[in-house]
Amino acid sequence: MKCRVCRGKAVIAVRRHNANFCRSHFLEHVRRQVERTIDDYKMFGSDDRLVLGVSGGKDSLALWDILTGLGYRVDGVYLHLGIGEYSSESLTLSQRFALTRNLRLEVVDLTVEYGFAVPEAAAASHRTPCSACGLSKRYSLNKVAAERGYDVLVMGHNLDDEAATLFSNVLGWNVEYLGRQHPVLPSTEDGLCKKVKPLIRVAERETAAYAILAGIDYEVEECPMAAGNTINRYKEWLNRLEEQSPGIKANFLFGFLERGSPLFEVSDDIALRICSNCGQPTTGDVCAFCRLQQVTISRRQDG
Ligand code: SF4
Ligand SMILES: [Zn+2]
Ligand SMILES: [Zn+2]
Repeated sequence: MKCRVCRGKAVIAVRRHNANFCRSHFLEHVRRQVERTIDDYKMFGSDDRLVLGVSGGKDSLALWDILTGLGYRVDGVYLHLGIGEYSSESLTLSQRFALTRNLRLEVVDLTVEYGFAVPEAAAASHRTPCSACGLSKRYSLNKVAAERGYDVLVMGHNLDDEAATLFSNVLGWNVEYLGRQHPVLPSTEDGLCKKVKPLIRVAERETAAYAILAGIDYEVEECPMAAGNTINRYKEWLNRLEEQSPGIKANFLFGFLERGSPLFEVSDDIALRICSNCGQPTTGDVCAFCRLQQVTISRRQDG
């Protein structure tokens, strides 16, 4: 197996590009994929203040490495979810990554800041842990980005994440979610920070390979709350299709973004209001995050 670029010994095959790469040309290939995504979707420029949602996993740490390597100045924000050892280990790995590269990482602890952790909120609200977790992440990362005056909130969702989410939204015909599934969500005057996903051209196996080949120490343990996560099941299904037809996952996602997404565009008329509890943007009176917080704390008080 020879590298497509230098004909040296290849260490990885990327079947959908019909290419094999040696270590350094694979790292280069992934960086170019990210660079191209940033340019194609006009995600940000070198003057923008960027903040990255950091989880300690392969995707966010690989993306942090890639963006700083491309010359962007990117701060990180880590949300401590209160998921036992998994959370403390991923925090340590994120802090170590930031420290050794002289990068700024802000830590927000859900329990300290908002009085609850993900497992308790999931049980109290009868949501799945991933749903309570996703809501908490969206809320608190946006809050940090908007309040600290960042221009762009950068997220480490990869090709597999986006394709599986799209698959889930198509299976349920969640037209509202389909209308909002885009690599760039613009900022709004009501307090939503611009949000971008520069890793969507890179598959999960490739971000893992990038992290290993770039010498990044990341959290390899799976979150203990992931069991039963439907998105993970859809990822497995899509990977089976990918085995048979390399490139099908990328075609599914990018075909949608080019041709399907405009059909589901959401109207700009949906006026956001200000949550009467926390002041963050919402469509109702009290935002979903505050409702999650309230139900969790009141269940605890009820004993
Ligand atoms: S698996 Fe679910 S609960 Fe665990 S970190 Fe991911 S989204 Fe959160
Ligand atoms: Zn090479
Ligand atoms: Zn609120």
